Amino acid sequence: NTSHTVVIIGGGAAGIATAASMLKRRPGLDIAIVEPSDTHSYQPGWTMVGAGVFEPEVTQRPMASVMPKGVNWIKAAAASFQPEDNQVTLEDGSRLRYDLLIVAPGIRLAWEKIEGLEKTLGKNGVTSNYRYDLAPYTWELVQNLKSGRAIFTQPPMPIKCAGAPQKSMYLSCDHWLRSGVLDDIEVEFRNAGGVLFGVQDYVPALMEYVEKYHIGLQLGSNLVAVDGPAGVATFASEDGEVNHEFDMLHVVPPQVAPQFLADSPLAATSGFTDVDQHTLQHVRYPNVFGLGDAGSMPNAKTAAAARKQAPVVAVNALRALDGKGPTAGYDGYGSCPLTVERGKIVLAEFGYGGKLTPSFPTWLIDGTKPTRLSWMLKADILPWIYWNGMLKGREWLAGPGNMIAQ
Ligand code: FAD
Repeated sequence: NTSHTVVIIGGGAAGIATAASMLKRRPGLDIAIVEPSDTHSYQPGWTMVGAGVFEPEVTQRPMASVMPKGVNWIKAAAASFQPEDNQVTLEDGSRLRYDLLIVAPGIRLAWEKIEGLEKTLGKNGVTSNYRYDLAPYTWELVQNLKSGRAIFTQPPMPIKCAGAPQKSMYLSCDHWLRSGVLDDIEVEFRNAGGVLFGVQDYVPALMEYVEKYHIGLQLGSNLVAVDGPAGVATFASEDGEVNHEFDMLHVVPPQVAPQFLADSPLAATSGFTDVDQHTLQHVRYPNVFGLGDAGSMPNAKTAAAARKQAPVVAVNALRALDGKGPTAGYDGYGSCPLTVERGKIVLAEFGYGGKLTPSFPTWLIDGTKPTRLSWMLKADILPWIYWNGMLKGREWLAGPGNMIAQ
């Protein structure tokens, strides 16, 4: 059995940023990160890959290259938690002991919940920007479609980056409009939820684009099955199930807490890590913290949120190691740059309760309106800040104030 002062589960946006932030505050701290993947993904970039703006390669780096110096990378998956014994069991059966545990394994994409989907993903016009290998197929389909019906789906909440289902749709429509084929394409947005976007202040700007692109907006319509070869998708609504033919189908899968977390004593009833939404400390185990998409907090699950949470966890976790109570607080900040057309973004930034938390004064960027400056942020500045600020614990670049969205 191995033992480390700090064990972090997950080397994604949240896990790496937290390790880097803790090491900046306490150099030499003994941290182990449990992470099975060889590569680390900048998932916010996949929307841009699906629209032909980014090459896929710029959104991935070797995991080894983002591991902060001095961290012990344990290349394995965690399988269960024994918080009473301050212990994590890995998939190979080995055990890891800790003084302090940070839980950040992300959210699980539950493709299998949609009947017939897995076997047709990546062919028959069925795609998703939620997977690195499929985002380029989205762009291929968009370029090839000249007429017919394109359906974009959104599953029930919670999902990571709740704006991503419509981002892909607007960018596709923009391409069809510019290439003169939009009039021959019927576009539908089928959203299991009851609103276009959860924070009302951004809805009017989005509705203008729904109208501009002649998008058929269907709320309360949930994708339940796909027959790829037949080009038919089945949606459930209050009125029962209906089949719709499609030429292109962009699917966002239902999303759930990782099973090993949901099955553990650390889980809330939702399955996510049961933490206080401000201090991010576990509500039952004070030497456990949780952040990122796997946390139970009711914020928008985004990398931007993880960027703000990481220093809060770093500060409070170091205090817990010293036997002290938490002092840092997270306000629920999350951000969603809604790519409404190539070159313009509606920059949604908000905290708990849908309170707007803009990073910029309105004269510079009014987040409720489409602006070119926010597109420049997303396309040119934010990826750089992610790799060189957030993942390096350089908070003067990446926060911790309301400086910049992700
Ligand atoms: P992740 O970054 O997903 O990392 C989780 C890590 O845990 C992974 O490396 C995984 O391998 C590891 N792991 C899983 N299981 C285990 C296990 N059993 N043991 C150990 N490790 C494990 N966010 C924004 O801020 N802005 C955007 O514009 C935006 N757009 C998006 C568009 C798309 C298409 C997608 C898919 C996401 C987007 N996001 C966006 C969301 C953002 O990517 C996530 O919110 C962010 O990555 C969450 O960080 P995380 O560390 O919690 O999870």
